[in-house]
Amino acid sequence: MDSPLTELKGVGPELAKKYAVLGLRTVADLIDYFPRRYDDYSVLTPIAQLHPGQVTIEAEIKQITGRYVRRGMHITEAVASDASASVRLVWFNQPYRATAMKTGQPYYISGVFALKRQRFSITNPTTELASDFPVNTARIIPIYRETKGLNSRQIRAALAQVLGRMRRLPETLPEWLVAEQRLMSRAETLETIHFPASSDKLDEARRRLGFEEVFELTLASLMNKYELQTEHAPAVPFEAKVAKEFVHHLPFALTDAQRKVIWQIYKDMERTQPMNRLVEGDVGSGKTVVAAMAAVMVLHQGKQVALMAPTELLARQHAETMQRLLEPLGFGNSVGLLVGGMTPAQKASAHADTKAGRIRCLIGTQALIQDAVDMHELELVIVDEQHRFGVEQRKKLTAKAGHLPHMLNLTATPIPRSLALTLYGELDVSILDEKPVGRLPIITEIISPNSTDALYAKIDAELEVGRQMFVVCPLITESATLDVNSAEKIYEKLSKTTFKHRRVGLLHGKMKAAEKNDIMQQFVDHKLDILVSTTVIEVGVDVPNATIMLIEGAERFGLAQTHQLRGRVGRGEHQGYCYLLMSDSSAPSPRLRALERSQDGFKLAELDLDMRGPGAIYGTMQHGQLDLRIAKLTDVKLIASARQAAQEFIDRHEKLVQYKQLSHRVAKLRAVTNLN
Ligand code: ADP
Ligand code: MG
Repeated sequence: MDSPLTELKGVGPELAKKYAVLGLRTVADLIDYFPRRYDDYSVLTPIAQLHPGQVTIEAEIKQITGRYVRRGMHITEAVASDASASVRLVWFNQPYRATAMKTGQPYYISGVFALKRQRFSITNPTTELASDFPVNTARIIPIYRETKGLNSRQIRAALAQVLGRMRRLPETLPEWLVAEQRLMSRAETLETIHFPASSDKLDEARRRLGFEEVFELTLASLMNKYELQTEHAPAVPFEAKVAKEFVHHLPFALTDAQRKVIWQIYKDMERTQPMNRLVEGDVGSGKTVVAAMAAVMVLHQGKQVALMAPTELLARQHAETMQRLLEPLGFGNSVGLLVGGMTPAQKASAHADTKAGRIRCLIGTQALIQDAVDMHELELVIVDEQHRFGVEQRKKLTAKAGHLPHMLNLTATPIPRSLALTLYGELDVSILDEKPVGRLPIITEIISPNSTDALYAKIDAELEVGRQMFVVCPLITESATLDVNSAEKIYEKLSKTTFKHRRVGLLHGKMKAAEKNDIMQQFVDHKLDILVSTTVIEVGVDVPNATIMLIEGAERFGLAQTHQLRGRVGRGEHQGYCYLLMSDSSAPSPRLRALERSQDGFKLAELDLDMRGPGAIYGTMQHGQLDLRIAKLTDVKLIASARQAAQEFIDRHEKLVQYKQLSHRVAKLRAVTNLN
């Protein structure tokens, strides 16, 4: 399995380079290279009964001739016959055909049968001598991702050579599991993926692979979970009077959902095992208050809390909010900020204060972990938008305490339950499924570029009565410079013409941190009416007076991302508006339509998952290894049985090491999914 592909007939050093382009070096790599799709040429049809479309015939070549028609253009024509009739075959620019194909021998001929210049023919068909095991015709044909100089036909030829090895591959899953779940054996599965005998068999092979994926992933997270349960964390006793006092000082009543989630967190932290909880709540569901209530209990014990945010802007805002929320309980002074944009002197003093225990609730970005932060009494780590932090970063942060602290992850990316359970089986998941009362749904409209006049008039009326607007500019490519360009252009346009009588500001990721904060602060203080920005404002920023979100080039944004952006407005008592401005007047995509119809982040996430796969939700996570190649996360039955099997595996106290490949894969997955 580890031999290089050059060992195969027909694969020389040059072709091996092409394989390397696809990441394929060894026989094992090749076998693990799954088709992108299949063409079904499995049904043999008598020539007399051919219908236009993809067909396969078994026929003999009666005559075959080749000629050059115009300069450079070569045509090979042949007549193929079976017992029922004859059909014309045509190949363009394949001059070798005329000599390569033998008359008087049965061939499988697969291709598209169609009317061309008033005659029915099969154009550029694939042919091979009829046999028991055709590779390129007369079956469900795999189509692989190809590269220049290496096509699916060559890949199939290589795979056909290792078929013997494929058939001898040992089982990787426990035999009892294969039997219990009636799974196809691993050897048959791989053979079927590359050379399916029928579409039923192909379905069965796919089921096995999907099962295996979810099984491994679940096993990895369950093992993480059980390992975590053997770890020790300091218990944080629940003090009713502290919680009561906190709530007493809030300007609003907690929602039932908030109450429920906070209670779950308090119960977790009272235990001597580390909490590992994910709080999922749609934008505006009030996660910050929940985080603050968790923090206050730890601070009350004289211990430390770290809160990490994905951007500096958000870290600063969290610091302010936390200070405000904790002030009435006497912990306002113990809140500290540590972000990259601070001066060395500011940072040094934050470090010193943290070390000395004067700062007991430290809030920051990655800087929190990059710098040598000394938090001896760290007992709670809160991570806002956890999917933006890599596993390694999290490990570094938790290593500071010497023991594992309790871990609270907050996310506004509503992970559909099926996905959350599969990817994060080790997490306890709380859902804030209720918005604070009195929130008006955000009026969402798709706007075509030729009706902007009416839109701008409507917007101006809102600005006139004192509201504010975000304008978010499209990410034209991944390149940050282009992103900036488009923001600058739109800023020019709006500030010089459309809204020249308003105060317009520009914010983008390329600006210095101090500059960004300054602009953001101006917007918060209502010294600006309009803030034109790139997606840097995507997460978390809270400006209750901003009621309009105008998204330029809306068709370029992902569903989940647009929903996040929309969540930036309608956070106060005023009606919120979200305008999805399209770049051209083509018909709006289903994605935009869905946004117009629904405000439910969970529903939208399910939809995104359906349309784009898990990558849509874990876009920014280092999820390469988490991509499910086969399993559909909407396949509830498969997921349920694979999860159950993983639990059974653990309950049987099976030794994972006896399954070499399985344990190798699970070890890799554990590293990816582990949150501690
Ligand atoms: P998110 O879940 O998006 O992080 P925030 O925590 O920023 O939401 O809360 C959004 C806004 O709602 C904040 O201004 C916050 O003060 C307010 N809020 C939070 N909980 C409640 C509640 N129970 N009732 C009314 N307003 C609330
Ligand atoms: Mg938030």
